[in-house]
Amino acid sequence: MSLSFEIAAVSAEGGRRGQLTLPHGDVQTPVFMPVGTAATVKAVAQDVVETLGDPVVPGEDGLLPRGAEIILANTYHLYLRPGHELIRRAGGVHRFMSWRRPMLTDSGGFQVFSLASLRKITADGVEFRSHLDGSKHFFSPEHSMAVQIALGADIMMAFDECVETPASWERTRDSMALTHAWAARSKAYWEEHRHEVPWAYPPSGPHESKSGTEFARAYDHQHFEEKHQALFGIVQGGMYPDLRKESAEKLVEMDFPGYAIGGLAVGEPREVTREMIMRTLEHLPSDKPRYVMGVGYPDEIEEYARMGVDMMDCVLPTRAGRHGLLFIREDPHDRRSPVVRLNIKKLDNAENQGPIDAGCHCQVCRRYSRAYLRHLFASGEPLGATLNSIHNLAFYLETMERVRGDLSKFPDSLEPPSAREVRFP
Ligand SMILES: [Zn+2]
Repeated sequence: MSLSFEIAAVSAEGGRRGQLTLPHGDVQTPVFMPVGTAATVKAVAQDVVETLGDPVVPGEDGLLPRGAEIILANTYHLYLRPGHELIRRAGGVHRFMSWRRPMLTDSGGFQVFSLASLRKITADGVEFRSHLDGSKHFFSPEHSMAVQIALGADIMMAFDECVETPASWERTRDSMALTHAWAARSKAYWEEHRHEVPWAYPPSGPHESKSGTEFARAYDHQHFEEKHQALFGIVQGGMYPDLRKESAEKLVEMDFPGYAIGGLAVGEPREVTREMIMRTLEHLPSDKPRYVMGVGYPDEIEEYARMGVDMMDCVLPTRAGRHGLLFIREDPHDRRSPVVRLNIKKLDNAENQGPIDAGCHCQVCRRYSRAYLRHLFASGEPLGATLNSIHNLAFYLETMERVRGDLSKFPDSLEPPSAREVRFP
């Protein structure tokens, strides 16, 4: 078993309350996944990522925060540095970074198209130069799979081409056709090589000696027997509903364990993003997880979750945090009030002894004042970036916890179309 998805409730708008079961644990959906680009959620340590958000989970001494149940890592970055073979030798990215919960890797496609230079695209793959040192590399669907298998995330993504925005209908159609051909090749490679994932077999070698870390020694390989990674296909089609439909149908024919909607939030108006998501969701199977890549603001993730998106990721909470931008509620005691952005740099925070957001229960709002956070930011202290990122991540997780709570209320009123459990061999 690599992935199972159980839907407990479906709202009238199509929002789904579910649970993903993956080799490294369970994930409550809809879920927001913090981005850990280079095997780190920037500036936030793993034990903190595990304890973010409101205390909602029963523990031995009362309620505990759920924390992030799944994070994302970027294939392109880890391939270039420190290299996927080094991570394979460490036992996979979970062990390498001491993260015991589920994880997802992207295909590297988006970064190749957005960061690397001198790209040459052929039917076979993409040749590009590293944004770090200009060295030449080649990514094919097979190579992306091999790298992602070495990294060993619970979910990996098929290699896709991302078209520039705006792009003509013809250009988008041709790019989409390439993405479909690459999806088929990604799947074929995954099916043949998925047993090679580093945690699927007992490790050997010097890293298994008694000198390993506590985390490495506690890593139970028995638990992973017979388990492997799941592969998601990525729907493309730009801003054209007819192409989105065609892309979704084509990928559904290939039968992936889950589906992503890619190529959105790349500069188009928000109404267009929303429409493309809506027009794509209707062509995806209701019993499989659906993931919108790279979105968005807190109110957007809430909106998309209520429309039936199960998974989302975005660098925004950590990136905004590093720039001193904090997400708060307009009325801190009404968690459904509009989201506003607080600029911690502003002078009027200099002597404000209150928290960032009086209604937020995160470790930062419970302990530190706006005045202190402004001082850290103004002094360029790294702790400022850390604390701001923790609050923003907690704000995103709190938002999704509330949405899941709302969606949970539906099981009695509506018969979910797919309450059965779906398993993939
Ligand atoms: Zn907070």
